[in-house]
Amino acid sequence: MSTTVVLFTRDLRLDDHPALAAALAEATTVVPLFVLDRTILASRYAAPNRVGHLLEALADLRGGLRDRGGDLLIRQGDPADEVAAVCATTGANRVRLSADHSAYARRRLRHLREALRGSGVEVAEHPGVTVVAPGDLRPSGGADHFRVFTPYWRRWETAARRTPVPAPEHVKLADGLDAGDLPAWDDLVGGSRSPGVQTGGESAARQRLRAWLEHDGILDYDDTRDQLDAQTSRLSADLHFGCLSATVVEAGLDRRRRGHDAFVRQLCWREFNTQVLAANPSLPRRDLRSQGDTWDHDEEAFAAWKDGQTGIPVIDAGMRQLQAEGWMHNRVRLLTASFLAKHLYVDWRLGAWHFMDWLVDGDLANNFAQWQWAAGTGTDSRPNRVFNPVAQARRYDPDGAYVHRHVPELAHLEAPVIHAPWEHGDGLFAVDLGYPQPIVDLAEARDRFLTARGR
Ligand SMILES: Cc1cc2nc3c(=O)[nH]c(=O)nc-3n(C[C@H](O)[C@H](O)[C@H](O)COP(=O)(O)OP(=O)(O)OC[C@H]3O[C@@H](n4cnc5c(N)ncnc54)[C@H](O)[C@@H]3O)c2cc1C
Repeated sequence: MSTTVVLFTRDLRLDDHPALAAALAEATTVVPLFVLDRTILASRYAAPNRVGHLLEALADLRGGLRDRGGDLLIRQGDPADEVAAVCATTGANRVRLSADHSAYARRRLRHLREALRGSGVEVAEHPGVTVVAPGDLRPSGGADHFRVFTPYWRRWETAARRTPVPAPEHVKLADGLDAGDLPAWDDLVGGSRSPGVQTGGESAARQRLRAWLEHDGILDYDDTRDQLDAQTSRLSADLHFGCLSATVVEAGLDRRRRGHDAFVRQLCWREFNTQVLAANPSLPRRDLRSQGDTWDHDEEAFAAWKDGQTGIPVIDAGMRQLQAEGWMHNRVRLLTASFLAKHLYVDWRLGAWHFMDWLVDGDLANNFAQWQWAAGTGTDSRPNRVFNPVAQARRYDPDGAYVHRHVPELAHLEAPVIHAPWEHGDGLFAVDLGYPQPIVDLAEARDRFLTARGR
C-alpha cells in the first residue's frame, strides 16, 4: 500500500498532467492537494482578478476529481508545512509536482525538500508548465539561455515533444481525509474584480480552446491578430494557471491549416519568456540591459495613464479595457507600455505592477519580459524605438471600433478623427466631449526620451 501526494500549483487540470499520471500509475491512493499560499496571498501578486480565477479553477478541478471518486484537499498556509502535515497524516512516501521556473517557485521547492528531509518522503518534479522545459534548449557557444527570440523559435519548433497523457478515469483518495473548504475570493483579498473578467477552470478553458480551434479567426490569425478589434484565442489565463496544457493546445492545431505557424509562434513567445525568467530570476526587478535611465516620477501623468485619462484615445481605450476585462489586446499592451516608459519616461516597473494588479493572465515571465521589451531594457534589438500611438491606432484600428467600444465619450467620432481628436477640433473638444486634452505632446515627449537615452 503506497500513497502519493500530488501538489497542484499552476497546473490546475486533469488532462495531460504528468505528475498526476505518474502518481496514479504507482500508488494505491493519491492525495491531490492545493495550498493557498499565505505568502502569495499577502503579496501584491494576489490581485482580485487572479485570485477569483484561481478559486474558480480550484472548484472546477475539485469537481473533476470528485466525479472520478477522488477530491482536492485545500489547505491554507505555508506550502512546505502543509505538504509535510498531509504526508504525515496520510503516510505518503512521495510528493509529485510540476516543475516551475520563477525564483519563488524554486524557493518553494527547496523549502519543501527541507521540510521533508529525514521523513523518507521523496519529492519528484514533472514537466507540464511549458512545451519545452527552460534549459532544454541552449544556444551554441555556451550561453545558458536564448536572449533573442528568432534563434530560440527555430530550435523550439523542431525540439522533441512529450506525448500528452489523458485525464484519469478514476482517482482513489486515501480514506478519512478532511478535504477543506474553498473560501470566497473576497475572504482572501480586498479590492474589486473586473466586471467582464472571464471564468476560470479547466472546463471553461477547454470550451474556449474548442471554440478557438473551430473559429475562423485562427485562419486569419497571421493577418488580423494585430487588429485591435480582432478576436484572439483568449487562452492566456488558461495557460498561466495551467487549466490547459500548452502541449495539448499545440497538439490540437492542424499544421496544414492557415494560421497554424503564426499562432504556434505566439505560444513560443511564452516559452521564450519563461526561459528568460528562469535564467534571470530578478527579471521583475532589474533591467536585463540597463540603458542608464533616470526615470521621471510624474505621479499625475502616471495616475492619468492608469485611469485611462491621458487624452490619447488608443492608450485610454487599452487602460480602460484592462480594468473592465482584466485583459488587454497584445498590441495595445505594447502601445500602453511603450507610451508609459518612453513618452512619459516613467519607470517600467510601476507600469508592469499596475498590469499585474488587473491582468487575469498576469504572469511573471510574460508580463515582465514584455514590459522590459517595450521599455527597451529587455530583449528588443531596437531598444530606443518609439511607437507612435496615433499612427499605430490608425493602422490597427482603422475604423475606430476598438476606441469606440472603450471610450464612450468619443463614440460619436468617426475614424480617423477619433484617434487624434485634438488635430481636428477647435480646441474646445475637451470641454465639449468631457474627454481630456493629451497630457503630452507626442513629438516633444519622443524627443525628450531620445535625448535622455543619448540619441
Ligand atoms: C507589456 C505586455 C505585458 C504582457 N503581459 C502578459 C502577461 O502577464 N501574461 C500573458 O500571458 N501574456 C502577456 N503578454 C503577452 C500577450 O499580450 C498576451 O499573452 C495575449 O494578449 C493574450 O491574449 P490571447 O490569449 O488571446 O493571445 P493569442 O494571440 O491568442 O496568443 C496565444 C497564446 O500565446 C501566448 N502569447 C501571445 N502573445 C504573446 C507574447 N507577446 N508574449 C508571450 N506570450 C504570448 C499567450 O499564452 C497566448 O494565450 C504581455 C504583452 C505585453 C506587450
